[in-house]
Amino acid sequence: MRTLDQAGDLKGTKVLMRTDFDVPIEEVTRNEKRETKILEAFRIEKQKETLHYLLDHGASVVLAAHISAVPSFEPLKPQLEQLLGVTFGEDVTLLENTRQNPGEEANDEAFARELVAGCDIYVNNAFAVCHREHASVVAAATLLPAYAGLLIKEETDMLSQFIDAPVQNKVVYIGGAKASTKIPVIEHLIERAEHIAVGGVAANEILAGNTNIDTKNTKLHLPTDFVMDAGIALDIGPESTRSFAALATGASLIVWNGPMGRFEDARFMAGTEAIARAIAASGALSIVGGGDTISAVDALGLLDKFTFVSTGGGAMLAFLAGTQLPGLKALGYYTP
Ligand code: ADP
Ligand code: MG
Repeated sequence: MRTLDQAGDLKGTKVLMRTDFDVPIEEVTRNEKRETKILEAFRIEKQKETLHYLLDHGASVVLAAHISAVPSFEPLKPQLEQLLGVTFGEDVTLLENTRQNPGEEANDEAFARELVAGCDIYVNNAFAVCHREHASVVAAATLLPAYAGLLIKEETDMLSQFIDAPVQNKVVYIGGAKASTKIPVIEHLIERAEHIAVGGVAANEILAGNTNIDTKNTKLHLPTDFVMDAGIALDIGPESTRSFAALATGASLIVWNGPMGRFEDARFMAGTEAIARAIAASGALSIVGGGDTISAVDALGLLDKFTFVSTGGGAMLAFLAGTQLPGLKALGYYTP
């Protein structure tokens, strides 16, 4: 992978930096004025290091990003400036929400040319969109010398380290709702981990025989009891929770994506909470990812107990499934 240290002297260069500002927001009305508030700044804070690296090396930076929650970055600019520790002006500018242009999702070269106009190099620091073949992620990287930012380096180092490490004492927890994105991860990691414990909808799908996963594989741990509501399994039961949690105790390396149950409802959060506490207490090197998993762990006040919190939900899963991510390929990186 081409990394920033290979970019040469940055003094006086203009950098197009693909960044990740796709945060949840809240619209509040205060004194009859509508305000747009950033609810979760974790992703933005993860962009700070690379931005300041570029500025400290004498570059000026044009930021390109998308946001799903609102059409425009305009009302968020003061908050972004504060979180990033910069003032938008000559040295740092922010382009408008890339997904407002139909060329973005079409990976349109003409739109990519508009994005890179006047820039000398391209830096991608948005790991969370690397599984997307979009103009600001892929086409733009073909138009200029393209490098991975510090966050992409860190994410790929952590996740590839997990995949490549010896099988022994390596544990994977998978849960959550989007079963179709989780099954390929189980398939790819089952030979590369000692244990895979599956909860959430993914477990229900496997148990219902809706996947090709071999339920007799002794590395695979499926729930044996459930917390039910109206005939639907909405959390793993106490016996499964105990046996899943026990796997963390002996682990040296853990990856977790996906809550074990519908944790937003207190009646179905015991499984998720127990896994979070077991990983936090394990002393293992732990990696957690997924928007909902992170908010569950954060609500328990345990996020800082994890070694690494990935900014990639879908991108992390695609990486762990052994898929080649278009945005990484564009930087010369191939997933293990
Ligand atoms: P992440 O964002 O961490 O990748 P997902 O988006 O795949 O996770 O899934 C999170 C959602 O899965 C949560 O909203 C949670 O309520 C739901 N969920 C987990 N287990 C179940 C279950 N057994 N039945 C229904 N919903 C579930
Ligand atoms: Mg989610």
